[in-house]
Amino acid sequence: MSVPSYFSATYAEARAKFLTACEERSIPVTSHLNDNAKGVEGEELYMDVARIGAKDAKKVLFISSGTHGGEGYCGSGIQIGLLKENFFSDLPADTAVILIHAINPYGFSHVRRVNENNIDLNRNFRDYNEPLPDNAPYREVHDMVVPKDWDGPAREAADKAIQDYIANRDLFTFQAAVTGGQHVNEEGLFYGGKAPSWTNDTLRKVVTENAAQAEHLALTDIHTGLGPNGYGELIFVGHPSTIDRAKDWYDNEVTNPQDGSSTSAPVAGTIDAGFTEPTPNAQHTCIAIEYGTLPIMEVLDALRADNWLYIHGDVNSELGKKIKKQIRDAFYCDNDVWKGMIWERGHSVISKALAGLAKS
Ligand SMILES: [Zn+2]
Repeated sequence: MSVPSYFSATYAEARAKFLTACEERSIPVTSHLNDNAKGVEGEELYMDVARIGAKDAKKVLFISSGTHGGEGYCGSGIQIGLLKENFFSDLPADTAVILIHAINPYGFSHVRRVNENNIDLNRNFRDYNEPLPDNAPYREVHDMVVPKDWDGPAREAADKAIQDYIANRDLFTFQAAVTGGQHVNEEGLFYGGKAPSWTNDTLRKVVTENAAQAEHLALTDIHTGLGPNGYGELIFVGHPSTIDRAKDWYDNEVTNPQDGSSTSAPVAGTIDAGFTEPTPNAQHTCIAIEYGTLPIMEVLDALRADNWLYIHGDVNSELGKKIKKQIRDAFYCDNDVWKGMIWERGHSVISKALAGLAKS
């Protein structure tokens, strides 16, 4: 099969391809139904979990797609390519690979970053026994990023306010205020929720079932939307004490949002906690791969538009269709050059993850 054929046009197509590819390799899959929502075609929504390797493996590599819904078109393509090319045919006896397809199946199907409750899952993994943060920087920008209309005076005023904000401070300060995560407005952007989501609960069960015995857990969580087009930035996630090992495994290419070396602003409540907290006795080496699509302001505008659409608009209107194309383009560059870059980088990074686990 050619590389572009690893990628899919819809969640339903991606899921079918993933399940078929697993079946061809006799790889068992456990499917977790999200019965809080349906897909865009009325289909059932599943987080599918494929396991390759021994049940009692001491080293476990998780490769996950679709934490941010529509970003899953990219991650799914990598997962399916790895299966099609029989990438895991000679795993060491002490190593297992777990492919989690569509961590956020609602967002994957509806081409949204958020889940069915407008929750950004990569901001949802926090301790809800602790008070929620006040998110003052987000409060300041909320009215700018969530205007009341999308093609009238309210939008123009909001855009002007954003331009002024960036002119008075800078683009990265704006990005950090918008994307850092917030728990104060359930109709806002990058909303982390006020309780654990379905994905949060389900993922913890999946990790416990598959890695309770692990002495070393590695994670590669696949994202899109930040950085140069087609480039896969390796962003460190997890406890600061583990960053040196991540840098060693990945040839010092790992960036860190906490020290300003990443295109990502610092964020809280990230999904790596769903892997590390259920495995407290294991060592952890976790990264996200972040593939670039469009310039940051185009991505943020697409996210604003999509957010407006589901609060105030009509998905089936002409404007709704235009916005859905805009958000899709922000998540996924549907051309063969981009897909080729995604695949080359993707399988190279997974090779390094396995080599790192082998020497750990
Ligand atoms: Zn993402």
